[in-house]
Amino acid sequence: KSSKNPISGIKSQIRDYAEMKEEEIAQLKKMERYRKEFLANISHELKTPIFATQGFILTLLDGAVNDKTVRDRFLKKAAKSLNALNILVEDLLTVSKIEAGEISMDFEVFDIQIMIVDVLEQVEQKAEKKNITVSLEVPNDDPIYVNADYNRLKQVVINLVVNGIKYNEKGGWVNVILQVHDNLVTLMVKDNGMGIPLEDQNRIFERFYRVEKSRTKKQGGSGLGLAICKHILEQHNTSITLQSEAEVGSTFSFDLNLVQDTEYENSEF
Ligand code: ADP
Repeated sequence: KSSKNPISGIKSQIRDYAEMKEEEIAQLKKMERYRKEFLANISHELKTPIFATQGFILTLLDGAVNDKTVRDRFLKKAAKSLNALNILVEDLLTVSKIEAGEISMDFEVFDIQIMIVDVLEQVEQKAEKKNITVSLEVPNDDPIYVNADYNRLKQVVINLVVNGIKYNEKGGWVNVILQVHDNLVTLMVKDNGMGIPLEDQNRIFERFYRVEKSRTKKQGGSGLGLAICKHILEQHNTSITLQSEAEVGSTFSFDLNLVQDTEYENSEF
């Protein structure tokens, strides 16, 4: 017969609690480390454009202000640094809101091709500056309906295309490809840029992580773009995959469920 000894029962309960506490403490410590690291990263990232702006202003005060050409050049540089600072702060807010679960997606049904045309229009100037061809490849003229947050999904595709432009040589290309399978659409952003070495491929979706090579090339950007993409796609129940080879190029892709035409027509969207 198994008669339970109440004392040993209590002892094992105490042991359980102690273990639970240890786990909780470990978890809290991990979160604390994470928070400190995040803050250290933020301060570092914020200081870069602040110091740059300060430098330009001090140079102007030092006498550069008297020479019109130099003055204009430094004022432009200062404005550019402040713009970078602004983007960084906005991206930081987006990341922390998404991570805290404070951003809800605004789902609606739309033709993803229309959104991509919208994206292409927005990146046109950036691409032209580097003489990069950005093109769209679609299966046919039929609309491709998805149920997604238009603006946030557009942000994802803009981030991917802009990266394809930034991490590319002059005269390169970025191709946005849509492929329709049974009930899925795959969106790919493919470039023939500098590529991402294998050892960095898992890490570039972490906040502030940059491949050394692009860091030294001093490309503008918050280092948060891909972290934001990953979060937004998670909210769409999908994930981003990456195929890349250094010096050859990169392809970022994700799937979305298709909304069938008939479904769309019969629904109240
Ligand atoms: P940012 O571009 O602001 O640095 P992202 O989060 O968008 O931040 O990207 C993180 C890093 O991933 C970049 O710094 C770059 O090293 C690398 N990366 C992203 N997209 C590409 C690409 N298409 N080709 C090569 N490297 C890329």
